[in-house]
Amino acid sequence: MAKIGLWSDCHNFPSLPLMKLSAYHKSIGDTVEHYIPLNHYDLVYASKVFSFTPDIDDTCIVQADEIRKGGTGYCISVRDGKEVFDSSMDTPLPKAIEHIYPDYDLYPDYKYAVRFLTRGCPRGCGFCVVGGKEGRCSHQVADLSEFWRGQREIKLLDPNLLACKDHEKILVQLAESHARVDFTQGIDIRLTNSDNIALLNRVKTSMIHFAWDNPQEDLTDYFKRFAEFSVVKSQRNKSVYVLTNFNSTIEEDLYRIYTLRDLGYSPYVMIYQKETAPKRIRQLQRWCNCRWIFKSTRRFEEYNTKG
Ligand code: SF4
Repeated sequence: MAKIGLWSDCHNFPSLPLMKLSAYHKSIGDTVEHYIPLNHYDLVYASKVFSFTPDIDDTCIVQADEIRKGGTGYCISVRDGKEVFDSSMDTPLPKAIEHIYPDYDLYPDYKYAVRFLTRGCPRGCGFCVVGGKEGRCSHQVADLSEFWRGQREIKLLDPNLLACKDHEKILVQLAESHARVDFTQGIDIRLTNSDNIALLNRVKTSMIHFAWDNPQEDLTDYFKRFAEFSVVKSQRNKSVYVLTNFNSTIEEDLYRIYTLRDLGYSPYVMIYQKETAPKRIRQLQRWCNCRWIFKSTRRFEEYNTKG
């Protein structure tokens, strides 16, 4: 019986790979716990989501016979100022573990089911590692029953669910679960149509996320159509990520922000490589994402002069 320690750089969201590893090791009689510095382990798994967070060895001396590292955070390198996914560094889980029912007991404070139903995305956005990591074709990788056993909430991590040819079947399953579904990575507004919006209307959601990342693309008509057909009417519950600091001017950022607000959506500014972003972009983010400031100061130009 081995003693297994689990470590992750992600502190406000459960680590799905670690939940699967935990389930596997418990199934073969090992003891599993979150990694505690000073304890000694036969094996420690370190999972990293982000490239900019400290590694396990940077935070403490790891006492373990073996450390296995995995996750996107270990596979990102910067080339020509852009983050790219280095597949030679990738260490996917073995198939038997990939499809195991996750050990939700590892995170007792989180009551929801969490997983990917599909992986991959055809878009290949220059700032995103999904295409390099998961492939340029969205495909189904799991069935709902694989990770959901009646929890009242489901958090989906799918990068682009609507790009999967089976997305209508998946949306029907989600609707029939009657669970509250959070599409954490957003819905691709360019792939919405009256049919899949009708299916989305049947899925219980409290908040729906989209993205308008590329200022060269005018997505106004897509957002208009979704607003028309969707049952989600409240501005608060329709959030749109607006990528900044990546091939856009501040005027282009503001165009997307103002347009979305006028269409009844809540824009939410994301900053590419935030650590090195100009101060003005950080101000833009504070103005837009802080709801009471955004409500009381309608124009960024006014907020800026006050600042
Ligand atoms: S659409 Fe989303 S998931 Fe797909 S490449 Fe662009 S940012 Fe990544």
